[in-house]
Amino acid sequence: MNNASEEYQRKYTTRENLRFLLRGFWQLDKKQMLLSLTQLFPRILLPLFSLLLSRLFIDCIVNHRSARELIVATLLFILVFGVLRILEKHLEVSTTLLGVKRRHQYYIDRFDKLVTIRYDVLESPNGRKLTKNSEQFIRSENGGARAFWDHFRVLLLDLLGIAGYSAIIGAVQPWLIVVVLAITILIFWLGQLDNRQQVNKYRQISTNYLKHIYLQRTLRELTAGKDVRLFGMRPWFTAKRHDVSEERFAIDRQYGRKFTVYETLTAVLVAVRDLTAYLVFIAQVLQGRMSPADFVFCIGLVMGFSNWTLNIQEKMRYLDHDLRECDEFRQFLDLPDTQLCDAPPDQSLAPCRVSFDHVHFSYPNAKVPVLKDVTFTVEPGEHIALVGVNGAGKTTCMKLLCGLYLPDQGEIRIDGKKTSDYRPGELLQRFSALFQEYVSLPVSVAQNVSMLPEAETDQARVRFCLQQARLLEKIEQLPDGLETLLDKTLSENAIDLSGGERQRLLLARALYKSAPIILLDEPTAALDPLAEQEMYLRYHEMTHNRTAFYISHRLASTRFCDRILLLEHGRIAECGTHQQLIDAHGSYAKMFEVQSRYYREQEEA
Ligand code: ADP
Repeated sequence: MNNASEEYQRKYTTRENLRFLLRGFWQLDKKQMLLSLTQLFPRILLPLFSLLLSRLFIDCIVNHRSARELIVATLLFILVFGVLRILEKHLEVSTTLLGVKRRHQYYIDRFDKLVTIRYDVLESPNGRKLTKNSEQFIRSENGGARAFWDHFRVLLLDLLGIAGYSAIIGAVQPWLIVVVLAITILIFWLGQLDNRQQVNKYRQISTNYLKHIYLQRTLRELTAGKDVRLFGMRPWFTAKRHDVSEERFAIDRQYGRKFTVYETLTAVLVAVRDLTAYLVFIAQVLQGRMSPADFVFCIGLVMGFSNWTLNIQEKMRYLDHDLRECDEFRQFLDLPDTQLCDAPPDQSLAPCRVSFDHVHFSYPNAKVPVLKDVTFTVEPGEHIALVGVNGAGKTTCMKLLCGLYLPDQGEIRIDGKKTSDYRPGELLQRFSALFQEYVSLPVSVAQNVSMLPEAETDQARVRFCLQQARLLEKIEQLPDGLETLLDKTLSENAIDLSGGERQRLLLARALYKSAPIILLDEPTAALDPLAEQEMYLRYHEMTHNRTAFYISHRLASTRFCDRILLLEHGRIAECGTHQQLIDAHGSYAKMFEVQSRYYREQEEA
């Protein structure tokens, strides 16, 4: 089984992470931080007061003191107890609020980072992992950013408590405290081993749980439900379910044995400690050097050590978890940024010349290169179809062209200048790119077209673009017109557009930006072939004065282009007009024939 703990690499030391978190809280509200430390009184004094009260009771009984003295002491104790309890609750609430406020700051930091992170890093396995894991730091209710200060301060108070109790016992019997502390350290060390195993167990259980969830979810989904029945996959699922359950039992058994050993050793150590304390104090009582009341008080103090040790161990475990999450969060914040294009698009830019010169490219950690020696030149204003089977590398070419990735070898130039020599913002200004996965933001239709803040949106231009995209009529029929909000996720008054309408919105968006290079990377993949062809022709008409790349695996959709580039095995295998490629009887002609036959058969059926 994969041990998830092995996958995790800390970048910062514990001390660096502690400093980072403490500085964050301190900068937010130092007064509240200090105030929350006053919980020292309830946390340490309350148990001490109850021991003192027991001592007083016994003292009163043994020494035949008056009932009045006892009642006054009890009332006094209840009063102090009540006040300290109220203080404790109050401090708990204000400390929680402090954690919530600090977490919100980290939430903003993460939000800002998500916008600026370099795209190739975001897409890399490490980038994806850190993006996902960094969420945990701000999402946890009982850990991470929200609970760190609470855990840290309680740990601090517990350490102080143990020091105070040690001082009292040390004053009564100096060598006893040496024994008690030595045993406490041993118990603590066992607890740390136990903690480490708990963390490993938790991670293994999480991985196992994901498998369990996968099986449950797949069986629940209707699409999978059909296949499961049609292909008789029940035995496979049953066997997998059995394996996953067995794996879980094995984890429980493996750790159960270790925990039993730790628990037994701890119980033995506690027994040795308590026995030593009893023997020492009983001897003192018998020798008349200790009163029965002091005996109860001192034994209570020694027994109290178990509580302190347990509390400290628990808080150390929580803190370790908080610091690990913090480390991943910081690694996420450290990911490199890209310079964003904040300036409005420059609509005066002329169509560009694009050239790929012996470009080679592999994704990080990939064994096989995606592009192997890709060379082509596109003249300003030319419309190019980039075609090839799925996975041929068409999208990769476009990502390289936009500068989202840099080639491993070779050069990509726009108007003679290498893409790596452009400032990122300057380069991105030259592109209007529409990909399969598009975003419609929960803002107005107008802003979704301009992709600019409301104040900078040119309403007349939006109207013109929507009209060109044949969407204006539909939008104007809506009560709020261009101001209609899209995406029901954030607003109930918003509307959701149909698939075809969304394509038109994308077209309007591309027209609005009016960049000199247009990239259309199958934004119409969800449409049927005829609708895709119609949409592409529409883009073609609208963008006649720009350099445009049309990507599709449906060859009929891009016949109209000036030139077609067929990408095969990482190279440009064929290049020419549709007719030239058909006449050449190469791969393009074969693919075109197969696809045409398929669509003809579909139509006849
Ligand atoms: P196409 O657009 O022609 O369908 P892509 O350019 O999307 O092809 O992908 C080309 C190859 O690169 C595929 O094998 C794909 O699995 C791989 N690939 C795409 N994106 C990544 C990535 N971020 N990391 C690793 N491999 C990737």
